[in-house]
Amino acid sequence: MLKKYDVIIVGAGPAGCAAAKTIAEKGHNVLIIDRQTFPRDKVCGDGLTPGATKLLQQLDAFSFLNSEDVYPIQAIRFVTPKLQSLDVPFKSKHEDAGFLIIKRKKLDHALLQSAQKSDADFLLAEATGLLFNEQQVCGVKVKLNGQKRELKARLVIGADGASSVVARSLKAAKIPDKHRFLAIRGYVKGFKTTDHLVEFIWTADLKPGYFWIFPTGNNKANIGLGLPADLYKKNKIDLKQHFYQLLEQPFFKERVLPEMEIDQLRAWPIPLAGLFKTQRVFDGAMLIGDAGYWVDPLSGEGIHNALKTGIISAEVALKALQANQFSADFLQKYEQRAWQQLGPTIKRSLAFVQGMRYLPWLLELYFFFARHSQSVFQRFFSNLSHDFEFDFNRQ
Ligand SMILES: Cc1cc2nc3c(=O)[nH]c(=O)nc-3n(C[C@H](O)[C@H](O)[C@H](O)COP(=O)(O)OP(=O)(O)OC[C@H]3O[C@@H](n4cnc5c(N)ncnc54)[C@H](O)[C@@H]3O)c2cc1C
Repeated sequence: MLKKYDVIIVGAGPAGCAAAKTIAEKGHNVLIIDRQTFPRDKVCGDGLTPGATKLLQQLDAFSFLNSEDVYPIQAIRFVTPKLQSLDVPFKSKHEDAGFLIIKRKKLDHALLQSAQKSDADFLLAEATGLLFNEQQVCGVKVKLNGQKRELKARLVIGADGASSVVARSLKAAKIPDKHRFLAIRGYVKGFKTTDHLVEFIWTADLKPGYFWIFPTGNNKANIGLGLPADLYKKNKIDLKQHFYQLLEQPFFKERVLPEMEIDQLRAWPIPLAGLFKTQRVFDGAMLIGDAGYWVDPLSGEGIHNALKTGIISAEVALKALQANQFSADFLQKYEQRAWQQLGPTIKRSLAFVQGMRYLPWLLELYFFFARHSQSVFQRFFSNLSHDFEFDFNRQ
């Protein structure tokens, strides 16, 4: 007989684990369910900005990682559609927290282990829907060892990613395609990279799509391509084919070594945050991370916002448990706080995205000046991120 939980969290990715740990360490009983056995892969660039690293420290994830799991980054290369290139050595604005590459197979397992150490329970089960008491969510329907089961909870948190069953059961509004990226990722070896430097190469045709190269040393890298889903559909693109076509271009081709191999090439959607109307809180439930459309719309960076919305939703859940109040009105504080903290960066990213979509020449002009002036360079970079500052001493 399964007990009734204070909180059930569907999905053991960064959002779900951050929420589970934050609630469990305050002594509440929390169940986190996932349909996959851990450690498991998640299609991702594996890039963690200093802000994300800071949150991982707070969540004690590094106690469950080895030093060889972590590859530090010290500089970023931006390449425009007209192949203007800028290399930016940077310093993190967060003390002792840098830009890191960590494979999701390792990272997500570390986060889950940390949540379990704080006494969150884990169950290998697939969520198939929600349980309602009139309009109020009161649990989760699951498939467990091939059997249908019902799990009761005072509060449910949907952290089940881009194809969230929880969001669908709550009939969360359908978001237009332009607020989604479709991305493909592979692990390459035998491809010339610059150690400790990540590269973002904006595509010429499907703006603001981009190709990334995130090195992990010895000419190995996580490489991938993200394209706006509306343009992808409109142009009837085959993502895999497009990815290989790009690799045929001279910028990439001259870096291919004879032994090049690409492994684990897989595609997955990225739900981007925007100013569209959506609902992330319901009576008895909240949607966080990718399930709540929180990914940065310019960079596609979703881990930071998944961790952050995991922590904020948990703080609100703790208040809700204390007050025994689970109405959407009460839980609304989660969305308000998340917007207060993430909104400024999301809005700035949206402005860049609009510029890139409709005034692409502006980016080229900006880069032209930035390449010749340190102050323009500095302004461009600090406008792009709260996480980094340009390091003049290392240029
Ligand atoms: C190709 C690609 C590259 C990316 N690169 C980066 C990057 O470099 N840096 C970055 O910050 N972000 C990146 N992102 C975004 C990032 O991967 C996501 O934003 C992040 O994983 C969101 O975390 P999450 O916990 O919300 O969801 P997820 O990490 O997707 O976790 C969801 C979990 O829910 C489980 N689940 C799903 N459905 C069910 C169900 N029905 N029942 C039970 N369990 C279920 C899944 O098994 C999974 O474990 C990238 C995304 C893609 C697709």
